Amino acid sequence: MKLYCEVEVISRHLPALGLRNRGKGVRAVLSLCQQAPRTQPRPRACLFISTLKDKRGTRYELKENIEQFFTKFVDEGKATVRLKEPPVDICLSKANSSSLKGFLSAVRLAHRGCDVAVPLSTLTPVKTSEFEKFKTKMVITSKKDYPLSKNFPYSLEHLQTSYCGLVRVDMRMLCLKNLKKLDLSHNHIKKLPATIGDLIHLQDLNLNDNHLETFSVALCQSTLQKSLRSLDLSKNKIKALPVQFCQFQELTDLKLDDNELIRLPFKMGQLRNLRFLSAARNKLPFLPSEFKNLSLEYLDLFGNTFEPPKVLPVIKLQVPLTLLESSARTILYNRIPYGSHIIPFHLCQDLDTAKTCVCGKFCLSCFIQGTTTMNLHSVAHTVVLVDNMGGTEAPVISYFCSLACYVNSCDMLK
Ligand SMILES: [Zn+2]
Repeated sequence: MKLYCEVEVISRHLPALGLRNRGKGVRAVLSLCQQAPRTQPRPRACLFISTLKDKRGTRYELKENIEQFFTKFVDEGKATVRLKEPPVDICLSKANSSSLKGFLSAVRLAHRGCDVAVPLSTLTPVKTSEFEKFKTKMVITSKKDYPLSKNFPYSLEHLQTSYCGLVRVDMRMLCLKNLKKLDLSHNHIKKLPATIGDLIHLQDLNLNDNHLETFSVALCQSTLQKSLRSLDLSKNKIKALPVQFCQFQELTDLKLDDNELIRLPFKMGQLRNLRFLSAARNKLPFLPSEFKNLSLEYLDLFGNTFEPPKVLPVIKLQVPLTLLESSARTILYNRIPYGSHIIPFHLCQDLDTAKTCVCGKFCLSCFIQGTTTMNLHSVAHTVVLVDNMGGTEAPVISYFCSLACYVNSCDMLK
């Protein structure tokens, strides 16, 4: 039985000698082996740790020799086995979590002196080719190189499969828990599985030139919220992104060029870390009001169908306010927590999508809507011209919760 992972063997004498471990594992192949010493009647199970430098490996006795298992992070492919003799901690990392669990239970059985149910491999030096399973980067740019029968090495951190004619995301990719960068550009993918959100380390996702029509709410609410830094959705067929898209708090780079976007998520301004935004050649008639809160280095909105600001505002004000409107305003203004366990789901959605007035208060469905013009240089250092006329201005929607707010801000409206 073998396990492929990174290993660091730390002597517990080190701190006493005033030394510290390097804190870095090396690629290793762990084998659970059966050895039959001449002096003993029964073969004994022991653990061999082989590395590229030491292919024969270092041997560790297992029977009644384990002081403790540390398995809190076993789902992340990490665990530590503390041996009695020699007094070392064997720290395992970057393992496939299910293989690690299987291996640890076999080690546990060997420690108890039980017969290990799995066949123990006979002792042979590890071949150099076995270390190839530690590959961290794989780039495939043609259909003929795409692995159909072989699995992807589990240790991959960077995987590119472009021009492979993929119509969906290969489920085998979703098992690559170490993946940081996934490039699926130039394929025919129509839909993303929500399970792509299970790739907890994924920072960079490239879906340029596919057939995506939507981006799901489930993905916006996955662990990608915390890991995703760069997202390329350009050259797809996306018409709108969900409001929850603004929960990608770590996002710094977003490419949306050449889609069919008719609006940007109206809470866009909440993407605090966003530095690079391009949404060129879409169908945006105007920008959402919160767009003003962005602080970008680069902005490209060239070739959109921006409408000239309307002279007349849209008035949806009702006096007196409906009971629903005034209670919604009160809930939002006082930041009273709500959820679908307290109020109906559609009300939660309404509250989630409430508009913000220029005064900072909120409104649900009673408001005055006007359009202002914004110079894009106020939110970005570098601005690509929005049209061939050399303009850097774009219309922005503004909302007013009352006539008073509208009148006070009237001079900013054109
Ligand atoms: Zn107001």
